[in-house]
Amino acid sequence: MPQYMVFPQIKHGNLAQVVTRFAPSPNGLLHLGHAYAAICAHDFAKAHGGRFLLRIEDIDGTRSRAEHIAAIFQDLAWLGLAWDGEVILQSRRIDRYHSALTRLKAMNLLYPCICTRGDIAKALKIKPVIHGPDGPHYPGTCRGQQTGDRAHSWRLDMRAALEQAGPLYWRDLAAGKQIADPAQFGDIVLWRKDAPASYHLAATFDDDADGITLVVRGRDLFAYTGIHRLLQALLGLPEPQYWHHDLLLDETGEKLAKSRASPSLATLRQAGDDGAQWAASLRAGQLPLGISLSTA
Ligand code: GLU
Repeated sequence: MPQYMVFPQIKHGNLAQVVTRFAPSPNGLLHLGHAYAAICAHDFAKAHGGRFLLRIEDIDGTRSRAEHIAAIFQDLAWLGLAWDGEVILQSRRIDRYHSALTRLKAMNLLYPCICTRGDIAKALKIKPVIHGPDGPHYPGTCRGQQTGDRAHSWRLDMRAALEQAGPLYWRDLAAGKQIADPAQFGDIVLWRKDAPASYHLAATFDDDADGITLVVRGRDLFAYTGIHRLLQALLGLPEPQYWHHDLLLDETGEKLAKSRASPSLATLRQAGDDGAQWAASLRAGQLPLGISLSTA
């Protein structure tokens, strides 16, 4: 019987049916931060007699790679984490995300946008810039414009969406009740020109489709939950609860990232390390030198 982690106290909501998921994007190899995320989601479900699902977020065909998907399966097995049911592949669900997009379009909440990154950068030089957590807001160049049959993305008209949805809240098991503030991101892209559905649309849709009752993910995604709450309200989807867990940080205080020099799980695995031992250490908060857990 594995030792489970210490979890935030459940103060609200009915979590009798706990269903969590680990939802990696296969655009690189997993590192210790992913292992920690998977353990949080797995252990919470198992400690509450629930289910733990594996969803591969491979919607971006230009960045997702089959060998990274294979490595995810091997990494989870190496850590001793078994998922319930079939693996969910987002790439097989594009038509479903498209139906959700069509519904939002019919509600007049989307507009087509033909801007390239260069167009946006140029427009931002002349227009007053509003900054959000993801950088400057889209300056609205295409709002209300005809785009003809040119290749375009679809953006959410944030003001119209918020008018329709009204004030929204969500609950984090650790941080408590939150006011959803999707406006801080401006008119976000929900369907891309070069790849299909955005993370926000696909993840929100799937969390409902897969019956996820508790979304467990890192604190780096905390603010995005406001967007997901808005999409749930617009699409009439029930709201799950959330637990945004602490993040593993490197020596500079930055979160571990695929792009930074943190060892991949595949490297540790291939070097003959014991995955169960790594999982036990992460559960106990025993981290390698130079890596720490965010406390705020
Ligand atoms: N696919 C996202 C990632 O790898 C996680 C999304 C989520 O948990 O909602 O960062």
